[in-house]
Amino acid sequence: MISHRKYLWFDTPSRRDYINITPAVEKELGESGIQEGLCLVNAMHITASVYINDDELGLLEDYDLWLEELAPHEPVSRYRHNRTGEDNGDAHLKRQIMGREVVVAVTGGKLDLGPWEQIFYGEFDGKRRKRVMVKIIGE
Ligand code: ZN
Repeated sequence: MISHRKYLWFDTPSRRDYINITPAVEKELGESGIQEGLCLVNAMHITASVYINDDELGLLEDYDLWLEELAPHEPVSRYRHNRTGEDNGDAHLKRQIMGREVVVAVTGGKLDLGPWEQIFYGEFDGKRRKRVMVKIIGE
């Protein structure tokens, strides 16, 4: 069995961002040489997500508006978590609903995604260096 592990790094200029990381994951799969197996992609931070959905601008804006309705960033005083001195209580909740990780089958050396499925990094407390782990196992 082959095992391939790599970090993808992000430092988004805005607090929230949605980045299609499918090409970066495909690059790791290519470097691994794995033909059949599983690919795990997970955010290493509790204020960011990895999820799969459509790469469509309207949908990305819909996510952002929906998440802000569910857990608005302001006022930061509404979150008990922010009593610690942090201001990212909303980002923890956004991360929870958008998820921590995805697992994609590897078939014939390719990510076995559905026709419109793309892998996204969701950032909810950006402007600092954060990472995603890609781990691919198989043969
Ligand atoms: Zn926090």
